Amino acid sequence: MNGKVRKIYPYLYSIKDLTNVFCYLIVGEKRAVLFDTGNGMVDLPAVIKKITDKPVTVILGHAHADHANGAYQFNEVFLHEKDFKLCKLHTSPPFRKGIIKSFEEENFVFPESFDADEFAKAGAGSVKALDTSQKLDLGSLTVEIIEMPAHTAGSIGVLIKEKKVLLDSDSANDHCWMFLEESLTLGEYIKMLKRTYKYDFNTFFIGHSDEAKPKTDMLKYINAAQNATMENSQVYNYVLEQLKPRIYSENGASIVFNERTLVK
Ligand SMILES: [Zn+2]
Repeated sequence: MNGKVRKIYPYLYSIKDLTNVFCYLIVGEKRAVLFDTGNGMVDLPAVIKKITDKPVTVILGHAHADHANGAYQFNEVFLHEKDFKLCKLHTSPPFRKGIIKSFEEENFVFPESFDADEFAKAGAGSVKALDTSQKLDLGSLTVEIIEMPAHTAGSIGVLIKEKKVLLDSDSANDHCWMFLEESLTLGEYIKMLKRTYKYDFNTFFIGHSDEAKPKTDMLKYINAAQNATMENSQVYNYVLEQLKPRIYSENGASIVFNERTLVK
């Protein structure tokens, strides 16, 4: 169902998009934070209104279309400046039209309120530079921004300090796309994961599943990225074949890379 809400903890909700994309709503005593905005085909403000009437700050984990295209539904959203150019591309009319076409081909059922023409020209919305040094006081909950560049240069995570929970969008996951033109190298990915691991959290949530993951899964991601080579990997012909992606998997962690990003 579009816009399906799951209460994960009393202070944390996931909202599922049309496809397997999840946004998260963190609700403190005074304020809330929406992390990521999905493909933008679900009426997120209406969904949020049913959960809380507190003021909401919207933060994007990175600029890819499946996380940023709902940004136009809000008065302002915050994104790492290093993803601004990517955001412009992914929220542009041709890109949005391409998404609608691919969803139609896969027979996704659009919400009743969905207007394809409006969606195509919705743009990025009011995107502002995210101050990564800030700590947001939501009232009994503090949200800290963690810079997690690798999947894209402007990828971030948000740490809910009191609960030791990290939300990381696509920054680190068990099937990480590190072959895109905007991706940094596997060396940068490994360094970023090691840095992130030092933060005080026990659990994290990614952008394409709302299952709680133990912090130690990040060690599996580090190992997979460290051990991947051209020789032990396979051709990944699922998307963007022109970038010649390859996949390497071990111990439940997959890394998708190419010759350019295989620099450690
Ligand atoms: Zn992404």
